[in-house]
Amino acid sequence: MRAALEASRRTSTAVISKLYPTRSHTGAAQGGMCAALGNVEEDNWEWHTYDTVKGGDYLVDQDAAEIMCREAVEAVLELEHMGLPFDRTEEGFIAQRRFGGHTRDHGKSPVKRACFSADRTGHMILQTLFQQCVRHNVTFFNEWHVLDLIVSDTPAGKVCSGLVAYDLKSGGLHVFQARSVLLATGGFGRLFKITSNAHTLTGDGPAVCYRRGIPLEDMEFFQFHPTGISGIGILLSEAARGEGGILVNGEGEQFMKRYAPTIADLAPRDIVSRAIQKEIHEGRGINGRDYVHLDVTHLGREVIENKLPDIAGFARMYLGVEPIDEPVPIQPTAHYAMGGIPTTVDAQVITDAAKTPVHGLFAAGECACVSVHGANRLGTNSLLDIIVFGRRAGIKMAEHSAVTELTELPDDPQSGVEAEITRLLEGDKGVRPATLRDQLQQAMTDDCGVERSGDSLARAAGVIASLRDRYSGISIDDRSSAYNQDLIEALELGFLLDLAEVTLAASAARTETRGCHYRTDFPERDDENWLKHSLVARAPDGGFDLSFKPVKFTRYQPTERKY
Ligand SMILES: Cc1cc2nc3c(=O)[nH]c(=O)nc-3n(C[C@H](O)[C@H](O)[C@H](O)COP(=O)(O)OP(=O)(O)OC[C@H]3O[C@@H](n4cnc5c(N)ncnc54)[C@H](O)[C@@H]3O)c2cc1C
Repeated sequence: MRAALEASRRTSTAVISKLYPTRSHTGAAQGGMCAALGNVEEDNWEWHTYDTVKGGDYLVDQDAAEIMCREAVEAVLELEHMGLPFDRTEEGFIAQRRFGGHTRDHGKSPVKRACFSADRTGHMILQTLFQQCVRHNVTFFNEWHVLDLIVSDTPAGKVCSGLVAYDLKSGGLHVFQARSVLLATGGFGRLFKITSNAHTLTGDGPAVCYRRGIPLEDMEFFQFHPTGISGIGILLSEAARGEGGILVNGEGEQFMKRYAPTIADLAPRDIVSRAIQKEIHEGRGINGRDYVHLDVTHLGREVIENKLPDIAGFARMYLGVEPIDEPVPIQPTAHYAMGGIPTTVDAQVITDAAKTPVHGLFAAGECACVSVHGANRLGTNSLLDIIVFGRRAGIKMAEHSAVTELTELPDDPQSGVEAEITRLLEGDKGVRPATLRDQLQQAMTDDCGVERSGDSLARAAGVIASLRDRYSGISIDDRSSAYNQDLIEALELGFLLDLAEVTLAASAARTETRGCHYRTDFPERDDENWLKHSLVARAPDGGFDLSFKPVKFTRYQPTERKY
């Protein structure tokens, strides 16, 4: 919507969304959006860049991080001017709070950099952008599901001329022709059983690109957030620790002080998740079980009710725990895809290290990899990413559309999708998609989670290969055309299978530990061999083509990552 808003000022623009747009996962973002405003404490965008690069374990493209951190300040102020109700300081400035890995003066101490609207920041962003889009006459196709991209190989290279979408209300397939197409389809946490991600985050955008011959970048890097509600994964935002909450093990110890002496509970997520896992493995979970405690009791009722109301509500609703009086059981939960569709800093999709573009195709937000998050994203940098790179994408798309003719469409561009839908609707009784999805999620959680090894990845790849075979024989119960969720879930499972395969291939290839990719068989970072981005493309024989892309450095050389 940020891109649409920008493009709509210059050209005719539509948003296609499988959900009603204000139900997008951005609406679940609680903690905040960061920018070095310096409203509460001294800060500057260069410190923010340093934190982002270090937080990403030096796999971040530093030119992209500089753009994001510099443009952050304007991005926040712009949203404020559009009407977003940020919390305020007593003097009336936009309030700011602490978040993991955000520091002053290159790691000296935590800094207050996250701007927020209680713990409903993402909800406010969505509402604000939706209102602005309506005001600027953006056309919306709500509950339309994009199932394919139309990409042709021409003498000038790959060209995207439109897409194929399925109208959920009527069950019809439609072809859209466009000069510029942007994918902003969000993440794919539904690869995992325990996840903070909404049911709909199935990675359709990256999977469709992969099927169309576009490689995916850095797919081995999937972030596990330390504080998911134990057993279900629903997120308790880092804002709880930003406001002073602490993590406690079964011995009553604030164990993060041992792992990150300087910033303790506010260390980046990869470090905290791994520490929790270690405490649990070594028998220091609560009563020896597979969770630890998030304790906010010392913050008092007023802070909890005013600054963390939704988080408190989740603890009450899902666990029956009153966070004002007792600590909350938590465990790491699959949260954020650092990898995705490779792009330039103007959101143009590219296919290799030489930055060969797919003309007319753009990607931004969690589905894209620009790469500002490297091997581990810092909290509050994603809401920032979607606004900064959404805006840049909108500008570039409008420019591209102004100088490009509509490309002729191939014959029957919808035929592939049509055949797949017919197969699912008319097939014989077979295995149910939900059964396969459960097995996929279980295998990924068990063997490609916070910790992985060559053996565990091979095991998971075996499971996924057998699920792939069985997928060709699935059947669905609902054969109707209106709101056929059975059909949609079967198609989404197809996307998840593709992404599971790519994630496992990229994870098996990277024989080092970096950021959230923790290989128990290769526990050290290996800059000599692995300071590079991975690209996995589908090979003509159905296997994988693995290639690499250099990391862009501007001023920060890799050093040991300590907090
Ligand atoms: C619980 C939770 C809390 C978070 N808290 C924070 C936070 O405090 N700060 C922060 O910076 N980040 C946070 N994040 C991460 C951040 O919210 C997301 O990375 C970001 O909002 C993603 O935005 P997006 O625009 O890329 O995708 P989304 O907001 O997920 O939107 C994706 C859109 O694509 C559409 N779509 C997807 N597939 C299709 C298809 N096939 N056809 C048509 N439409 C499709 C969907 O309908 C939706 O409209 C949080 C994430 C979660 C899960």
